[in-house]
Amino acid sequence: MAIKEQETIGPSLLVSGSFFTGVLRPTVYRCPNCRSGYKFILGPGDVFLGEGHRTCSKCQQEFRDRSKEWPVISSIGRIFFLFPMVVDGWILLALIAYALFFYTGWNDGSTPVLMLAAIFFATPLIAWFIFRGGQIARSVNRFRLRGKIEAA
Ligand SMILES: [Zn+2]
Repeated sequence: MAIKEQETIGPSLLVSGSFFTGVLRPTVYRCPNCRSGYKFILGPGDVFLGEGHRTCSKCQQEFRDRSKEWPVISSIGRIFFLFPMVVDGWILLALIAYALFFYTGWNDGSTPVLMLAAIFFATPLIAWFIFRGGQIARSVNRFRLRGKIEAA
């Protein structure tokens, strides 16, 4: 099984919010044999789509990489997959920005500003969900294909 390590880049005393500690604490996944890192992610996320095994590019050792295909991931895992910490933070930021616009009254007569803000916040989210959707589709396909091979 792959080794999972949390690295601390930012001083964890500085920020107590789980969002920031999550973002400042990337998780590194390493080969259990030679400890070469093969995956770096921001935050504590633990859900990956894949066949579940991987061959280390350094030592050629095969190991389980903690990934699963979409159809066998739990619903909580699916939520974490679609809404990791970074995405949650971004949505939160968009809500705060929206509230600020609302409170400062910027919304009267300044539609372009609101529009720009909406585009600014929505574009990465749309790109993210398209990207994740593609990954899920590939995972479901792999799963079906494997099922067919195993059934044959
Ligand atoms: Zn290795």
